[in-house]
Amino acid sequence: MLMLQERELVVEYGKKMSESGLCPGTSGNLSIYDPETGYMAISPSGIDYFQTTPEDVVITDLDAHIIEGDRKPSSEWALHTEFYKHKPEARAVVHTHSLYCTTLAVLGMPIKAVHYVIGDAGVAEIPCAEYQTFGTVELAQAAMKVCGESDAVLLGNHGIVVCGKSVESAFGLARNCEYIARLQYQAMSIGTPNVLNEEQMADVMKKFKTYGQPNANKPGY
Ligand code: 13P
Ligand code: ZN
Repeated sequence: MLMLQERELVVEYGKKMSESGLCPGTSGNLSIYDPETGYMAISPSGIDYFQTTPEDVVITDLDAHIIEGDRKPSSEWALHTEFYKHKPEARAVVHTHSLYCTTLAVLGMPIKAVHYVIGDAGVAEIPCAEYQTFGTVELAQAAMKVCGESDAVLLGNHGIVVCGKSVESAFGLARNCEYIARLQYQAMSIGTPNVLNEEQMADVMKKFKTYGQPNANKPGY
């Protein structure tokens, strides 16, 4: 079986996405990319995360050809391939319908620097793409249109998509985005949040470079 390790990680992190409450029902999806073969391992469409087995994960190339697998790949395969095509460092993509990110996406409102952890996305503001029907090339293009340097993009009236240098870091970023979106929502319900300025965020980005243990394989930032 091709990409066995990646298939197992897709199953493991799908369960994590589900149990962290980021993906109600069968919403959301995830993939892992191998630049050597040009193949990605992507979650199957519409199967419960806790019912998904490594055999259900589908291996495709970036042009929508199924290389191995009996299942239908996630309907958002174009969204995933768009990230791998345009973000050379991306090795994993995670898409969720997490509630607070989606709340802001319903308003067409970007996630702002109300907390320094937004630096995990590589930017001080996470943009929101215009609404497009789920599972379309148009949705993938709308996300890339506003993406810029960001590793995360809100999808209008839909959810959020993020990428990372590993599935662990992409999952971590999806969780951080939900945390900041929730803070923004809560702060806006009782007042006007202070948003960190450019200089403050530039300091954060510098600090992230040395965050955590030296020489460790850091999952985030
Ligand atoms: P899939 O089950 O096809 O991955 O679709 C879920 C989803 O979130 C579509 O946007
Ligand atoms: Zn979706």
